[in-house]
Amino acid sequence: MNSTAIKELLNKPIDLFNEANKKKSSLFGKNVFFAKNIHLNLTNICVEKCGFCPFARNKNDSDAYKLTPEVVASKLADLQWLSEVHITSGLNHDLKWSEVLQILDSIKKTVPHVTIKSLTAVEIEFYAKEEDKAIEEIIEDLLKHGSVSLTGGGAEILKDDMRTKLLTKKTSPEMWLKIHEAAHKLGLKSNATMLYGHFETFDDILDHLNLIEDLQQKTGGFQAFIPLKFQPLNTKFQHLSPATSIKTLQTIAISRLILSIPHIKAYWPSIGQDCSLMALWAGADDLEGTLVDEKIMHEGGSPEPGGLSDESLKKMINDIGLVPYERNSLYEKMQ
Ligand code: SF4
Repeated sequence: MNSTAIKELLNKPIDLFNEANKKKSSLFGKNVFFAKNIHLNLTNICVEKCGFCPFARNKNDSDAYKLTPEVVASKLADLQWLSEVHITSGLNHDLKWSEVLQILDSIKKTVPHVTIKSLTAVEIEFYAKEEDKAIEEIIEDLLKHGSVSLTGGGAEILKDDMRTKLLTKKTSPEMWLKIHEAAHKLGLKSNATMLYGHFETFDDILDHLNLIEDLQQKTGGFQAFIPLKFQPLNTKFQHLSPATSIKTLQTIAISRLILSIPHIKAYWPSIGQDCSLMALWAGADDLEGTLVDEKIMHEGGSPEPGGLSDESLKKMINDIGLVPYERNSLYEKMQ
């Protein structure tokens, strides 16, 4: 569906949700995907100071941290039930590339059955500069050390004026897309996010979706699209009100209708459990996962718990007449 048709549907939200639900159901029936997963943030120290970020710390802050391979291994040793480890971190000159790779190795050793989804395009660009390597070499390192996909982080809204308003100088829209294209060409799947609920208009959202869809048409390498609702607490934009549930559902529905990326996430730590369940009837098919230890949305003020048991997730899905489908990072079915 093109942008003009979508804009007309924005004034008829129920029709919009039904169209998106119809497209989602034609792809996946009643299945709702989820993973037994953990989000690992290897360090919260970051040299960038993005205005919308509640997570980054300075090196000397009392709650600044950096994980080691040993700490990660001991954290995961008791979590043998996991199916996915998702890794994103701050940009920390003291977290060397060799340490990141050692951490990937220690994960594969400790929980060999999990799939690893690791790093954002922003981290790839950072380590390419740190190591004086091409971005393709950093991506090849990730592949060699067991990562099967890139996370979708760092996209925000892929427009220069939006990045200026959000007070971020990190990875440009062109570079973000270039890194994902390079990953797809080298056989690494990836994901794409969008941060909404700040200064953007629906036109900005449509521009962002169309850029991502153009790349998807070229490579087919994106697996999932994740709309993230901006959480203003502890950021430079605390005066902004979070997006309404209707805006969230409209955003998810238009994402489904514009994109040919198979999976659209209802990311419950960001949009809330109730809204996530509604989103499963408005185009979303993936409830993300158990998310042990989710930190970033929490520090932005999300009232949701840090994690949910897989039993709770399955019950939530069953209670609305849909069918839980446990996946790994590559959307392979877990038994
Ligand atoms: S959004 Fe990422 S790059 Fe920006 S300050 Fe936060 S951790 Fe650093």
